[in-house]
Amino acid sequence: MILEDERRAVVAHASELATLTPGRTGNLSVRDGRDGDAFAITPTGVPYDSFGAEDVPVVGVDGDRRDGRMAPSSEVPMHAAIYRREEVGAIVHTHSPWSTTLAIAHEPLPPIHYMIVAVGKRVPVAEYAPYGTDELAENIVTAMDGADSTASFIENHGLVVTALDLETALENTIHVESLARIYLEARSAGLEPETLTDDQLETVIEKFESYGQ
Ligand code: 13P
Ligand code: ZN
Repeated sequence: MILEDERRAVVAHASELATLTPGRTGNLSVRDGRDGDAFAITPTGVPYDSFGAEDVPVVGVDGDRRDGRMAPSSEVPMHAAIYRREEVGAIVHTHSPWSTTLAIAHEPLPPIHYMIVAVGKRVPVAEYAPYGTDELAENIVTAMDGADSTASFIENHGLVVTALDLETALENTIHVESLARIYLEARSAGLEPETLTDDQLETVIEKFESYGQ
């Protein structure tokens, strides 16, 4: 079986999508390394506990289907376009409610908390286009590049997060969703959130290089 490890990772982590996004919405993919020419991706339109590794579709970064018993996510153009442009190993897309609340208002997430540096200095908003289209894929890559961010909201749709590996992409999806919530809760309480300065963010980026065990 080609891309066996990546397909097993998709199966092992797909159920985490259920905690982040309603119903069968959202999708995730794992690339064959950081610059590999193929990736394993969740099948389209199925519950996240209903498939095994052999079902998991394998798609080339050119968007062509290569293997797997099930049809791939409708967002293959988005995943393929990101992999063609960025040296990343995994992508998570959700309709997480707090992120999507900002996305429907076309509002980016400013640096209201130091944990934003997990994905960059802000989370931009990619311009709307219908789901599954090359146009949407292009808008997302443009927004991420423009903000130098590994995450982007998508107007009237949701959130996408990239990382070197799937665990990090899922963890950073949770960070963005949590920050979106804090930001919106503060505003709902009538507070005016203050943002960190560029210098303060740079200091955190440096500290993060040696964070953890
Ligand atoms: P798929 O089930 O085809 O992955 O689509 C879900 C989705 O969120 C589309 O944007
Ligand atoms: Zn979606």
